[in-house]
Amino acid sequence: MRMVVCVKVTPKAEQVRLDPTTKTLIREGVESEINPADKNALEMALNLKDKHDGEVIVLSMGPPAFEPHLKLAVAMGADDAILLSDRAFAGADTYPTSFTLAMGIKKLGNVDIIFCGEGSSDAGTNQVPPGIAEWLGIPQITFVNKVEVVDGKVRARRTIRGGYEVVEAPLPVLLSVELGCNTPRFPDFRRKRWAEREFRLKVWNKNELGVSEEQVGLKASYTTVKELKEAKMRERKGEFIRGSPEQVTEKLLEIIKQYL
Ligand SMILES: Cc1cc2nc3c(=O)[nH]c(=O)nc-3n(C[C@H](O)[C@H](O)[C@H](O)COP(=O)(O)OP(=O)(O)OC[C@H]3O[C@@H](n4cnc5c(N)ncnc54)[C@H](O)[C@@H]3O)c2cc1C
Repeated sequence: MRMVVCVKVTPKAEQVRLDPTTKTLIREGVESEINPADKNALEMALNLKDKHDGEVIVLSMGPPAFEPHLKLAVAMGADDAILLSDRAFAGADTYPTSFTLAMGIKKLGNVDIIFCGEGSSDAGTNQVPPGIAEWLGIPQITFVNKVEVVDGKVRARRTIRGGYEVVEAPLPVLLSVELGCNTPRFPDFRRKRWAEREFRLKVWNKNELGVSEEQVGLKASYTTVKELKEAKMRERKGEFIRGSPEQVTEKLLEIIKQYL
C-alpha cells in the first residue's frame, strides 16, 4: 500500500503573531513544529504500514526551512519526504495550496491513501483536505479517528455531533485525521541520526510539477486578508460572598440589580 501524509509546518500555537501592517503571519523568531493533527495522521499511516506493509511518504508545501521537520517525520518512520517549494507557491490560500499538493500526489502516482490533519493550528480552515480530494476526483472521509483496511476498502470511524459513524470507501481515498486521536510515536534515535545526516529530501519546484505561475501561490488565490482585529480577552472578576444565607442572598441581589 502506498500512503502519502500531507504535513504542514506551523508556528507553535502559543507563539502565533500577526503583522498588523502586512496582515501576514510573523515567522521570524518564532519556533515551528509539525502541525499537531498531522502527527496524528502520520501515526495512523505508520500503524497501517505496521499491519499491512507498504510505503509512507510525507509531502509538504513550504519554504526550504521546513526540511528539519520533514526529516523528523522520516525519523518517526516515514520512508520518504518531498517538499514542494518554489517562490511562486508563496502567499497561497487554500485553493492553490490544495491544487499544488494534489499535483505533487499526481506526480508520485499510484497512491492508495492520502492522510491529512483535520486542520492546521495556524490558519485552520479545514479546507485543504477536501480540496485535494476534489482536485484528484477521489472520495474523502473527514474527521477520522480510527481506520482499517478490509478487502481493499477503507473502513473509517469519523466523529459527528453527538457520536460517530463508520464509513467505507474504495481506494484511493483521502482521510483527514482528528487531532489527538492517537499518540504519535517518538522518533527512533538511530533513525533520527540517519535522517539528519544522510537522508536526502526531494524538493520539487513548479516546473517539476508541470504547473504555471498563474495556477499557484498568490496569483491563484481568491482570498486576501482585508482587516485584522485583535480579540481581546474578557476581563473576569471573582468575589467571595460570605455570611449567612440571608446575607449572601441580599448581597447577590445587590450585585445582580446593577446589571438589570
Ligand atoms: C488570517 C490568515 C492569515 C494568513 N497568513 C499567512 C501568511 O502570512 N503566510 C502564509 O504562508 N500563510 C498564511 N495563511 C495561511 C494560508 O492561507 C494557509 O496556510 C494555506 O492555505 C493552508 O490552509 P489551512 O492552514 O487553513 O489548512 P487546513 O485546511 O486547516 O489544513 C488541513 C490539513 O491540510 C494539510 N495541509 C495544509 N497546508 C499544507 C501544506 N502547506 N503542506 C502540506 N500539507 C498541508 C495538512 O495535513 C493539514 O493538517 C493565512 C491564513 C489566514 C486565515
